[in-house]
Amino acid sequence: MNNIHTDTKVIIVGAGPAGAGVSFYLTKFGIPHIVIDKESFPRDKVCGDACSGKTALVINRANPEWMTEILAQATDFLPSWGITFVAPNGKPLDIPFSPYRKTDSKAPGFTVPRLFLDNFLFGKMASPHCTIYQKAKIDNILHSENKVTVTMNCNGDTHTITAPVIIGADGDKSIVRKQFLSDSTTPKTYAVGLRAYYEGVTNMHHDNFIELHFLPEMLPGYLWIFPLPHGQANVGVGILSEVIRNKKINLREQMLAAIKNNPQIAPRFANAKLVDKIQGWGLPLAMERQPMSGNNFILVGDAAALVDPFSGEGIGNALYSGMLAAMAIKEALPNNDFSAAFLKTNYDDVLYKRLGDELKISATLQRLCKYPWLFNFVVNKASKSESLRNTISCMFADVDLRDQLRKPSFYLKILFNK
Ligand SMILES: Cc1cc2nc3c(=O)[nH]c(=O)nc-3n(C[C@H](O)[C@H](O)[C@H](O)COP(=O)(O)OP(=O)(O)OC[C@H]3O[C@@H](n4cnc5c(N)ncnc54)[C@H](O)[C@@H]3O)c2cc1C
Repeated sequence: MNNIHTDTKVIIVGAGPAGAGVSFYLTKFGIPHIVIDKESFPRDKVCGDACSGKTALVINRANPEWMTEILAQATDFLPSWGITFVAPNGKPLDIPFSPYRKTDSKAPGFTVPRLFLDNFLFGKMASPHCTIYQKAKIDNILHSENKVTVTMNCNGDTHTITAPVIIGADGDKSIVRKQFLSDSTTPKTYAVGLRAYYEGVTNMHHDNFIELHFLPEMLPGYLWIFPLPHGQANVGVGILSEVIRNKKINLREQMLAAIKNNPQIAPRFANAKLVDKIQGWGLPLAMERQPMSGNNFILVGDAAALVDPFSGEGIGNALYSGMLAAMAIKEALPNNDFSAAFLKTNYDDVLYKRLGDELKISATLQRLCKYPWLFNFVVNKASKSESLRNTISCMFADVDLRDQLRKPSFYLKILFNK
């Protein structure tokens, strides 16, 4: 057993999408860094496995060849062209991600099991600027004199690593967050999800639309059915933990009951087979702005509670926040200024300028989902109006347009068919 001391510029705890996002861009900027993960890759992560345009955007900016690689592997990364919303009254509404699709357009989203996606991203971290420790156990994180020292064990060796900044990319139970930030994630901003892999689910959309079923008993949560490569489907439910507690919901029973009894869903599972055990995990939702950095630390992805409160999407925001964290570090390094004030201006404020509006809209939509009649009303109207369907479709790409959903005038316009 050896004692190894290393000085580096950045320590990243966690090699999921958030940690990978930081690493890709630090490598681009030529900044040496160390990534530490407690697991060894490939490793699974409970998820719906759906990736939005934001995921594609960050990967593409890191290296356009990686997106070309993804799109070329349609057997492993299934291209997806839209979403089917199913209202509480059972009425479906197909909304393409983009209303204007050309023959040579590339799919805006894709689905891929996280076991596969995270291993793909993990493989792309390899660079002369990046040292990775897997199956590593962090014993201690010490913050003193404007630097952070991590003591960890890996392959029987004890490592002491020192850097001016540590990145918490270690997911929803982040030890970096716990150590540096008194944990302000209230139960209200937390959701719990279950994931099940099935084979043989029938009647999936021909363009691999992902499906969100807003069942009355699960509002403001939903049941999802996402098509996956190789004829599989990722099926799951996500509900606010507050609602689960207050209504004493057994999530597993509720999901299986919907699959067995719901008149729209059950026939599609008549010959379907569960191919893995049902697993649960938490979703730290971005319901309100919270601090994401401080003296000598930055939080990214789930550690920063950046899951979209309406859609439950977190992969894109994890990668995106990772990219912005690397940009802030690039600005901080010349003067070695990793103070709370500098990081707030160059990371937190930048992130909220870019994603704040989108997250606020999603938080409002999540609150509106409590009203099934409103959901039924919009879906009923949209199923009869192509222009309304196009407007909703454009809302995926245009945040200003999506903001209309928060305003009563939007619903009044629909009511009066304007
Ligand atoms: C049921 C469910 C469904 C979801 N569906 C979707 C979906 O369809 N689309 C979507 O975009 N998002 C979805 N999400 C959210 C998404 O899974 C997360 O937002 C995303 O994984 C966040 O990435 P991350 O890198 O921040 O964290 P993670 O993916 O959790 O990665 C964290 C990494 O840190 C490592 N780590 C943890 N603790 C330590 C430690 N002490 N020391 C060293 N390493 C550590 C872990 O091993 C892991 O590799 C879903 C979440 C759930 C729970």
